[in-house]
Amino acid sequence: MAKPYRDFSDFLAEHFSGKIQKISVNAGFSCPNRDGTVGTGGCTYCNNQTFNPGYCLPALGVAEQLEEGKRFFARKYPSMRFLAYFQAYTNTHADIDRLSRLYEEALAVDGIVGIIIGTRPDCMPDRLLDYLEGLSTRTFVMVEYGAESCHDSTLQLINRCHTWSQTVDAVNRTSARGIHVGLHMIMGLPGETTDMMLESVDALSALPIDTVKFHQLQLVRGTRLARDVEEGLYDVPRMSVDDYINLCVAIVRRINPSVAIERFTSQSPEELLIYPRWGLKNYQFVNLLERRLREAAR
Ligand code: SF4
Repeated sequence: MAKPYRDFSDFLAEHFSGKIQKISVNAGFSCPNRDGTVGTGGCTYCNNQTFNPGYCLPALGVAEQLEEGKRFFARKYPSMRFLAYFQAYTNTHADIDRLSRLYEEALAVDGIVGIIIGTRPDCMPDRLLDYLEGLSTRTFVMVEYGAESCHDSTLQLINRCHTWSQTVDAVNRTSARGIHVGLHMIMGLPGETTDMMLESVDALSALPIDTVKFHQLQLVRGTRLARDVEEGLYDVPRMSVDDYINLCVAIVRRINPSVAIERFTSQSPEELLIYPRWGLKNYQFVNLLERRLREAAR
């Protein structure tokens, strides 16, 4: 049965044969929106409690984390190969010597066939792109930018400390080097209507990106956003599972079909999550959404 939209496995299949799995790595970076480089206090939805130097410094090195991840997956799929996913915090926020050492440490691990680097759009200097462009001639390289919304008013409200035009600039500069680009977007940010969220889908559809992840906004204990909502400073759009499925149907209909959708939801730890408490895993949500998309296509 044809898939109702292009997903991440379609994208991977164009670049690799066989099973590919991402392994997340915490390389011990910090965040320029917390250490004063571009801002302090961080994005209002980001959990302050999990951000301190002790937490940030990983107990294991990059290669050890990858070996551990490989052992976990290899039990089920012995022939599987892997992408090192530099996920935690801002993985380009260091000098190029340190960055290249950590990326190459990952790539030297047997079975690692590429890297995905999660970062902010205001943290990609041309000098780093020079290096990544060279790296991408010998291995798979993707940069994943946290864009979150195309609306500067929203970005300001959540203290992202960057603008949409910085996202556009970073994406264009990265793609022009032949490096794969992904975006991360949040649906349901404070003050955003459905129309505004779909405008973000239109805006990202016009960019030279390969993939996108959508996440529902999660209200997490210990965040400034949770405090602001509790104090009644503003509210966030409250969506039932059904509302969010309807939004995702609209996203699928609207998005540039060449962009692969990697995710629609994420899950914060139960004990930290205030809202929404849908009790669905990502694959369960995707099953519901795909059923709805197929019914709509009949
Ligand atoms: S969400 Fe990312 S960019 Fe924002 S404060 Fe947290 S780590 Fe920094």
